[in-house]
Amino acid sequence: MPISDEFAGRLLPLLQDIVAAYGTPFHIYDARGITGTYRAMTEAFAGEPYRQYFAVKALPNPAVLSLLLARGSGLDCASPVELDLAARLGATGDDIVFTSNNTSPAEYRQALAAGALITFDDRAFFDRVDTLPGTVAFRVAPHGLAAGSALMGDAAHTKFGVPAEELADAYREARRRGATRFGIHGMICANELDIDRASRAAADVIELGARVAADAGIELEYVNIGGGLGIPYRPEDKPLDFAAYADAVIGARDRCFGGNTPRILMECGRYVTGPHGVLVTRVINRMRKAREMAGVDASMSALMRPGFYGAYHHVSLPFAQGRPDVEADVVGALCENMDKFAVGRTLPDPAVGDIALIHDTGAHGHAMGFTYNGRLRPAELLLTDGGDVVEIRRAETFEDWTATARWQPRPVPTARGTHPGQEA
Ligand SMILES: *Cc1c(COP(=O)(O)O)cnc(C)c1O
Repeated sequence: MPISDEFAGRLLPLLQDIVAAYGTPFHIYDARGITGTYRAMTEAFAGEPYRQYFAVKALPNPAVLSLLLARGSGLDCASPVELDLAARLGATGDDIVFTSNNTSPAEYRQALAAGALITFDDRAFFDRVDTLPGTVAFRVAPHGLAAGSALMGDAAHTKFGVPAEELADAYREARRRGATRFGIHGMICANELDIDRASRAAADVIELGARVAADAGIELEYVNIGGGLGIPYRPEDKPLDFAAYADAVIGARDRCFGGNTPRILMECGRYVTGPHGVLVTRVINRMRKAREMAGVDASMSALMRPGFYGAYHHVSLPFAQGRPDVEADVVGALCENMDKFAVGRTLPDPAVGDIALIHDTGAHGHAMGFTYNGRLRPAELLLTDGGDVVEIRRAETFEDWTATARWQPRPVPTARGTHPGQEA
């Protein structure tokens, strides 16, 4: 949906000057909006043992991660490079949850060394590791009524987690191997906007955790209900009532756990930053083919979601009011027909030079970008709490694109120490 009135009210008066001085395209994020959402989440859980860990993959920009860390957020990492980034930002120990899947022994060791709260996604992998973390947690596969999205898969098709019916045995084995502290992880929904389904999904994990803990004779120190809360991408979507969601989660915890109240952890990414970013681009071609088209100077390499899974992102032309509406596609320059930010969208008739905003790019936007076709990723800017605009990632250049190329091919060492083509 259109960015918030507060974000628009602070951004739009500056936007034409920024575009004139800095050029397009770029993503710009609203620091005040991001920290405001984070604060509202912690306030909804005030007085309860709770911590939100921002899913680094949603927006892995150091400046944004630092804003959240400084306010008490943890970081949810799922890869060694994300762990490196967390370490560089000073996150240590239980500032980090490591929720990976198809994990390698080397990345597991890195998470262990960092002291992260580690979630085991798979029982066979758990059986293979020789050193257990201080707290052992398993991720439960999607289960229950709320499960079954395209992103997570249903119980029969998912690649994530330990099947629910095998969990108690996994915890018994952990106890046998000397583990004394336990958690559980379950992320059942993705981009979920329906409060009942989201609450049901969290309650399913909490109820299952209580059952499994009783069955295996353990106490759970935390229940991590993952991320997956949705944001309203479409103008008609209603935002999720987070306070009601928190009440449902606390209610389920109180119902299922008597005296022992495990901490509630969350790993939201999209919900925290998604609405607080916008891709700023300019119309460079106004085309009339079989359809009306506005060609912009960003392409899906800057925002993959519309082309990749047909995701809706609101588009606006903030300085084109008063023109007659047309129905147009908004397209990038990639040599792929799916490179369209919008298809058949009603807009004030776009003209070359117009500034176009593509909304809700604060999560899984720049981060999912790529460089196919040499269409490189654009810059990221931040509108600070004080109203300044700062660059927090420059646009990529030819040098970045070719930095990993070997202009002089190098021999690859073989087990025998020399390359087959080389004389010893
Ligand atoms: C992707 C992911 C998240 C964050 O998802 P959002 O939809 O951005 O909230 C959290 N936890 C895990 C394990 C994930 O894979």
